[in-house]
Amino acid sequence: MAKIVVIGGSFGGLTAAFELKRLLGKKADVTLISDIDKFIFIPSLPWIAMGWRKAEDITVSLKPILERKGIIFIHEAAKGVDADLSKVKTETKEIQYDYLIISTGPYLAFDEVPGLGPEKGHTECIFTLEQAERANKAWNKFLEDPGTVVTGSVQGVSCFGPPYEYAFEIDSELRRRKMRHKVPIVFVTSEPYIGHFGIGGLRNSRWIMENEFAKRDIKIIVNTAVEEIVPGEVRLKDGTKIPFKLSMFAPAMKGIPAVSHLGNPRGFIPVDGKYRYTKYKNIFVVGVAVAIAPPEQTPVPTGVPKTGYMTVKMAKTAAMTIVSDITGIAYPEENPIDVVCLMDMGNTAAIMKANPVLPPRQEATLKSGVIYKWMKTGFEKYFLWKIKHGLSGLP
Ligand SMILES: Cc1cc2nc3c(=O)[nH]c(=O)nc-3n(C[C@H](O)[C@H](O)[C@H](O)COP(=O)(O)OP(=O)(O)OC[C@H]3O[C@@H](n4cnc5c(N)ncnc54)[C@H](O)[C@@H]3O)c2cc1C
Repeated sequence: MAKIVVIGGSFGGLTAAFELKRLLGKKADVTLISDIDKFIFIPSLPWIAMGWRKAEDITVSLKPILERKGIIFIHEAAKGVDADLSKVKTETKEIQYDYLIISTGPYLAFDEVPGLGPEKGHTECIFTLEQAERANKAWNKFLEDPGTVVTGSVQGVSCFGPPYEYAFEIDSELRRRKMRHKVPIVFVTSEPYIGHFGIGGLRNSRWIMENEFAKRDIKIIVNTAVEEIVPGEVRLKDGTKIPFKLSMFAPAMKGIPAVSHLGNPRGFIPVDGKYRYTKYKNIFVVGVAVAIAPPEQTPVPTGVPKTGYMTVKMAKTAAMTIVSDITGIAYPEENPIDVVCLMDMGNTAAIMKANPVLPPRQEATLKSGVIYKWMKTGFEKYFLWKIKHGLSGLP
């Protein structure tokens, strides 16, 4: 029986574990290691920050859903991977594997900008459940005594969507509360232009997004690096100082320490077209942990986003490739990965499609409308239902 270990219990790790068990059944012993005991639907974290969702609305306990499918669950952090000996180390165990799938997501590099982040700095973040809950407390306090909001992405960011969503949601919620006239909103980004998203833009995304910001009276500052953040003030590299009452910034990402020795200088791990690690044939890497080179060098550094949709596709490809290795069933060639993403805009939303993700592309779309808001809400419910039932085979 093949011993397969998966590290990470989120979009990539769970999808891979469910797929491997579904396709291999008794031919594989599948173990999932996660440092947290729940699946969190990360795309809804901005809604936690706005008070539109509670933690229990978007989380699922891992143990029962994994055990029901016959997957062994180890609730511990992986401390390291010995690729030569095919072992994962945790605090209390050494786990031998025939195949390993790494889906450990990002280390959030707040330390790269002085004063950035909720723990040691002066800005909120919405990238983990704890951060989003803290951001919600900051938001409620802000509503009692409002002022300027500064939000956006610092240099080196790859996950650009959440600050866009946050800016639009704040605008929408303030209008609903008839408070928008009390709050100047400034959006600061390392992207060379609005709507670049780290992937070189999508057809007319620049024009559409600039228009959406203008309609909402949100000031934009692009192509910008942040020098430091001090209490109540963002200082840009060009010397501009922007005072704020509330600030939320996306940080740059790196690979997590336990696996970063396998990767490039930022700890992201290089893979081939089937997400097999280029240096060890029995290790696969999916999701945020994968190294993807940016399509172009931007004046201020930016990275390529690895979305949930992309991560699920990567996990399915990696799982199928392992199944093919073990059973000998041929696996069809994969096309370059595409992306579909729904971005919340408060009272409306936008759909983005790019095929492939990086240019030149066969197809690219960005459209906004209320229908996409309904689709986003529906997708949250659908995906959580799918995870609760371990139905990774569904689209
Ligand atoms: C605020 C926000 C909004 C987003 N919105 C969207 C969206 O609308 N649509 C979309 O497609 N994508 C969206 N994304 C991106 C999407 O969330 C990611 O692509 C996806 O979560 C990546 O999945 P992953 O499995 O690679 O990593 P993650 O989801 O980050 O999961 C990594 C898992 O590994 C665990 N882990 C980490 N270290 C260890 C360790 N040492 N040992 C064991 N376990 C460990 C973590 O606890 C975590 O459970 C959003 C991201 C953010 C931050």
